Amino acid sequence: MTDAVSSISFANASPTSTNLKPNLPTIHYHVAMPQPQTHLFEVTLQVTNCPSPLLDLKFPVWTPGSYLVREYTKNLQDFAAVAGNKALTWRKIGKNHWQIDTNNVSEVTIKYRIFANELTVRTNHLDATHGFFNGAAMFFRIPGYEKQPINVTVVPPYPQWQVTTALPPVSGQTNTFSAADFDTLVDSPFEIGSHYLHHFEVLGKPHEFAIWGKGNYQIQQALADMHKIIEVEAAMFGGLPYERYVFILHLFSQAYGGLEHKNSCALIYQRFGFRDKDKYEKFMQLVAHEFFHLWNVKRIRPQALEVFDYDNENYTPSLWFCEGTTSYYDLQIPLRAGIYDGKSYLNHLSKEITRYQNTPGRKVQPLSESSFDAWIKLYRPDANSANSQISYYLKGEMVTLLLDLQIRLRHRNQRSFDDVMVKMWQQFGKDEIGYTEEQLQSAIESVAGIDLSDFFKRYIDGLEDLPFDRYLEPFGLQLAGDTDEEPYLGMRVSADNGKETIKFVEAGSPAQIAGIDAGDELLAIDGIKVTASGLNERLKNYQPNDSIEVTLFHQDELRSYNVTLDYPRQSRYHLKLFDNVSASQKENLIGWLGSSVM
Ligand SMILES: [Zn+2]
Repeated sequence: MTDAVSSISFANASPTSTNLKPNLPTIHYHVAMPQPQTHLFEVTLQVTNCPSPLLDLKFPVWTPGSYLVREYTKNLQDFAAVAGNKALTWRKIGKNHWQIDTNNVSEVTIKYRIFANELTVRTNHLDATHGFFNGAAMFFRIPGYEKQPINVTVVPPYPQWQVTTALPPVSGQTNTFSAADFDTLVDSPFEIGSHYLHHFEVLGKPHEFAIWGKGNYQIQQALADMHKIIEVEAAMFGGLPYERYVFILHLFSQAYGGLEHKNSCALIYQRFGFRDKDKYEKFMQLVAHEFFHLWNVKRIRPQALEVFDYDNENYTPSLWFCEGTTSYYDLQIPLRAGIYDGKSYLNHLSKEITRYQNTPGRKVQPLSESSFDAWIKLYRPDANSANSQISYYLKGEMVTLLLDLQIRLRHRNQRSFDDVMVKMWQQFGKDEIGYTEEQLQSAIESVAGIDLSDFFKRYIDGLEDLPFDRYLEPFGLQLAGDTDEEPYLGMRVSADNGKETIKFVEAGSPAQIAGIDAGDELLAIDGIKVTASGLNERLKNYQPNDSIEVTLFHQDELRSYNVTLDYPRQSRYHLKLFDNVSASQKENLIGWLGSSVM
């Protein structure tokens, strides 16, 4: 984003300047953490050329990339404002809005502390081992002055702690970094500690890989594969649109997640998830996903996310393209990079299709609505979510698959969805002009060379089931479903603190019809104890239409239900090559996935 204000540097403007332009505020944050074990960051904000007589400060309620109002100020405490030694009066105007009487002084200092004990990619974490923070969860903005550059000085508690961020350092000032504007500050997480820091270069650009936490990764292998991923994605978009890029990785037990930024990303992964082939491939998909976002969603943005409103929800029907298309490519990129072969690709894709087919909510919530309602649904899953919702990641990935296959078939692999990405980059991403849903559709149509209104009506705005086989057949593939051995009951159970807890009851299933509820504690079938892991085995002893007695605790009360089992369902799907693949099917398939698929 550019505008007249941001192109002028006021860093050297002084209050006594004779220049007729108004003196804009200069903004400098200090972030200290003298007692990291308390999880408290100590933040000092110095504003010179302070707006008067009132200084408004607003704290973001959400962070771009994670579409949920998180109320970051719930972690803010000990707010104070001073001018020199004199305390200034202030008041709260709203949950994230502070207002200070500046008494027309030029320099104001604000202090506050941020409690940081939530270890995710979109929150802050500080303990005796490291500090990690996101700008949205750490810093105020001054309304009206968001385009002003902001300096941040980090004060680590120990001399051996280093500071890693994508923000450029300010020369001559220790641990001081400069953000061009508030958006850039929010978009640049910091890692502070004694993390491993690996430097590598791709296409002449410096890259850093910071790792906090021990794990069983092989660093040379990981760096080599990340290198390949970067090269494949750069080739697709025609170069790397940044000067320097930083990967921040947090390793701990069972964890998975990532958050994209323009010049960096934050990743969370399980520390022992690198030796097993499947898990290692999943890690590389995570890297490919967040890296792909530096184009798709960070620069190629829906209009609703063109100018972030940090106070409110930013609604868009297009997250299926931001996230689902990125998910489609996170499986594709490692294949193209040679990290796995075409057969592994089909296995990974089959698992995704299985997840999709096992989500009954796909028949309830349209894809565009799933995107629009991200703010109230996707990030707030409950026991009914799978019955009533479909993830825009998952269905967006499936829809991108169908569109890619359709484009490839029509243009004999001379065109693909890659051309849509390049077009979106050229048209909207390079200059960061937001696109509308109509513009997205017409970009896809212009590459496909056909009108896609019917496709959008059925599969993006409508609820029609995706016709996988019709799109896969020309590529020599079919979707095969394994029929379960056990009759259908329709609930999922997991062991939870020594209890066998029913996590999900499918709408319209025998379990639901009989009265079983998510949250119930499963005890026995026909009077004999049953466990979560042993449930399916037990059900194999019965036939469809058999009646079983299920005993459970429902809100502490012992209850029994008679459940009539139904015919077995298909719950595992895989993409299967036809026995006799024709020459044209073979050509189409190899054009799509390369020869390693045969
Ligand atoms: Zn994503």
